[in-house]
Amino acid sequence: MTIETVVVGPFEVNCHLVVSDDGRALVIDPGGDPDDILAALRMAEAVPAAVLLTHGHCDHVFALQEIADQGALPVFMHPADASWAFTRANLMPPWFSQIPPRPADLHPDLADGAVLDLAGLECRVIATPGHSPGSVCFHLPAHAALLTGDTLFAGSVGRTDLPGGSSRALAESILKLSAFPEETRVFPGHGPVTTIGFEKKTNYFMRGGAG
Ligand SMILES: [Zn+2]
Ligand SMILES: [Zn+2]
Repeated sequence: MTIETVVVGPFEVNCHLVVSDDGRALVIDPGGDPDDILAALRMAEAVPAAVLLTHGHCDHVFALQEIADQGALPVFMHPADASWAFTRANLMPPWFSQIPPRPADLHPDLADGAVLDLAGLECRVIATPGHSPGSVCFHLPAHAALLTGDTLFAGSVGRTDLPGGSSRALAESILKLSAFPEETRVFPGHGPVTTIGFEKKTNYFMRGGAG
């Protein structure tokens, strides 16, 4: 398994490509620049198998249609974000002034603790509300990898001042993530890769900061 990252769109979202040993890929958060994502898939000699969304914000879903159309791919997200992600509530002018198109094969049913078996990879869903009500992290236990979206970043955490955000919920979510083994590699929705251990030592919000 390898994880490739393509930085996309005006907010520099990390679109992660989780590629299994047999060349199938999970595409996480295709937020923009679909041609760059498709080029990275070709470069990795990977065939996309499914799209997973850490949350519904425009900058994480905007290229969804182009990627899902590659092979009528299933798209997975949490219901608490699916309820508004494809409506006017998700406009972010001037950067995103069109409603993100709702994908044809949408599965808006991710739940805490759910285990997805996709592309031969076991992927566990951890509900981590706070940045948005339906934010989730994806854990690949066999590879000690955690895709944290906009919940946890290297040195910081997601903002909670957008609609549906909650600093109290975020603090609980961060506490949940701090229980992961220290060696767990963290692949955030923006910025560099880190580990749970490093964040527990250095990230104010993971050291019990009030947020
Ligand atoms: Zn976000
Ligand atoms: Zn973001």
